[in-house]
Amino acid sequence: MRKKIVAGNWKCNTNLQEGIELAKKVNTLVTSMAATDVVVVLGTPFTHLAKIVESVNTARIGIAAQNCAAEAKGAFTGEISAEMIKSTGADYVILGHSERREYYAETSEVLNRKISLAIENGLTPIYCCGEPLRIRETGTQNAFVKNQLEETICNLSPDDFRKLIIAYEPIWAIGTGKTATSEQAQEIHAFIRSVIAEKFGNEIAEDVSILYGGSCNAKNAKELFANKDVDGGLIGGASLKVEDFIQIINGF
Ligand code: PEP
Repeated sequence: MRKKIVAGNWKCNTNLQEGIELAKKVNTLVTSMAATDVVVVLGTPFTHLAKIVESVNTARIGIAAQNCAAEAKGAFTGEISAEMIKSTGADYVILGHSERREYYAETSEVLNRKISLAIENGLTPIYCCGEPLRIRETGTQNAFVKNQLEETICNLSPDDFRKLIIAYEPIWAIGTGKTATSEQAQEIHAFIRSVIAEKFGNEIAEDVSILYGGSCNAKNAKELFANKDVDGGLIGGASLKVEDFIQIINGF
């Protein structure tokens, strides 16, 4: 069944002690909320995963890595495998974030290996897609995003596809304070769902959660989440501010 999800992406922020403190604060507030059907996830640096898993109530808060290796194991100095991530107690991994595609040259081919390894190791991929400004300005964002999907997650088997979450993140909105309007978000989320329906059928398309990411904050979350095809958010900057993050969760 389609889930409502608010996932934080801390990126390369917080040292271990700061990260534990932040996670504990989020945990206190989330566990004191009345039972809710919103799934809360914290995407932390690798170094924090195991400790943060121990510091929160994992029945209420899921923990995500922000990347994983494209290889299962072996002589790949500095890499962190999907199996290693799973062994920390984390259950999710953010894959295909535009910062990784751009700064670390992650291609669709590399992403396909990462997605498969994540799924094989029992991690839920939060698969990111989204267009740069030059594409939005020419009005070709649907074709751009469709191509990203077709080169990656559309290659999965239906059973594996059911295991992932999609995050639509227009690059021009990430960390810029410029949010997609509610209409823009709904329009492209509905389009993404139609691409999935074409490939996997309506039932699977209706079940997949599609999150919005890109300067989503305490003020605009409610309006964005009110859209039929927006099932929550992937939150960067605002996930580092406890009160803002909680307000975003309360945006449903
Ligand atoms: C992100 O990088 O995933 C993101 C959505 O960042 P921000 O919320 O800061 O725009």
